[in-house]
Amino acid sequence: MNQNDLSIFNERESEVRSYVRGFPTVFHKAKGYKLWDLDNTEYIDFFSGAGALNYGHNDDNMKQKLLEYIQEDGITHSLDMASKAKGEFLKKFHEVILKPRNLDYKVMFPGPTGTNTVESALKLARKVTGRTNVISFTNGFHGMTIGALSVTGNAFKRKGAGVPLQHSVTMPFDNYIQNTSQEIEYMERLLDDNGSGVDTPAAIILETVQGEGGLNAARMEWLQSVEKVCRKRGILLIIDDVQAGVGRTGTFFSFEPAGIKPDIVCLSKSIGGNGSPLALTLIHPEYDVFEPGEHNGTFRGNNMAFVTATEALNYWTDDRLEKNVQEKSEKIHKFLNDMIQKYPQIKGTHRGRGFMQGIASEVDGLADKVAAKCFEHGLIMETAGPDDEVFKLFPPITIDDEGLDKGLAILEKAIEEVAKGKNLVTS
Ligand SMILES: *Cc1c(COP(=O)(O)O)cnc(C)c1O
Repeated sequence: MNQNDLSIFNERESEVRSYVRGFPTVFHKAKGYKLWDLDNTEYIDFFSGAGALNYGHNDDNMKQKLLEYIQEDGITHSLDMASKAKGEFLKKFHEVILKPRNLDYKVMFPGPTGTNTVESALKLARKVTGRTNVISFTNGFHGMTIGALSVTGNAFKRKGAGVPLQHSVTMPFDNYIQNTSQEIEYMERLLDDNGSGVDTPAAIILETVQGEGGLNAARMEWLQSVEKVCRKRGILLIIDDVQAGVGRTGTFFSFEPAGIKPDIVCLSKSIGGNGSPLALTLIHPEYDVFEPGEHNGTFRGNNMAFVTATEALNYWTDDRLEKNVQEKSEKIHKFLNDMIQKYPQIKGTHRGRGFMQGIASEVDGLADKVAAKCFEHGLIMETAGPDDEVFKLFPPITIDDEGLDKGLAILEKAIEEVAKGKNLVTS
């Protein structure tokens, strides 16, 4: 009997539901890089909760710490009161993450979602500078509330706002105008020319690798140039590391290889460790100017997330995890390039870096077909990009060789089946 009956969801859950349409089954259990549905069918996870499960599902140590915390009747909810769990997190985050990287940030806890840290960053930059405009980039994605949408590129998501999205200007991301490398010159010209119509912004906000926007990875030189553009004009640099951060690209912060020091950093998704909601806004101490309570939120004190987040930081006390990501990213890169060569019909181009790689296909609907085939064969993978033209490999960064190889084998099978299919229409 098929136990994965979706009728309750189809009947009672809003039409807004989306992932259940791509992965139409009822999930029940998960461990590491595997999930199981109610029929006990096993799936390999190349999705990682859209980046909220970088350490995989139900990590033994995080689970143990959480069970102990619940057992001792630890505080679950505390707004921004002081709690033992929060104190331990702050201490460990400073010792394991900030101090070794020579980064001095004050930690703000906004409501526990990515869009909330982005809203807080935008508000703060405006307060600090007294300016209203914010520069964002083509194909950027920063969340679904109005402020975050106003700096997001995707037309479909922007339209959902239902009101004009204001006080932002979009500039071309690295390599948007292909093979020119003139994106920075263009931005500087617009910023400095009194006839351009572009007001000096409070901030520039960007993702170093655009997660939802199609896995566009900025070059390190480009990131360094953006930082210089900011410094020269007193513009705050906000890095939205909600998806690319917490090890996804091979270092804790995605911007580390560029050697830049953003004024504000947004973290969420995997910072809670086991998929528990948590968000941080990291603020250069000089700009820590919100009045008490000026950016509030009932669920800022999610203590169970502090417990797992603190435990997760143990992955960063040596370089084993970083090495794992760096080695396996090369394997993924090689695999994807092989696919592009072996199956020219998919008209693919490699995208991304680290554990945020994929293939953009010029064939209409191909990425969605590949993702659907993957699901049929027991692999969960999503698509990205303005036309869902990229299939996006997002395995947990803790995955071992066996898991990665199994997932890649399923992916190849899916690509092969789709590539052999008829009616491949090139857009
Ligand atoms: C997912 C995401 C957000 C929004 O996070 P939510 O928790 O969904 O609000 C913001 N920025 C980036 C880069 C993201 O990937």
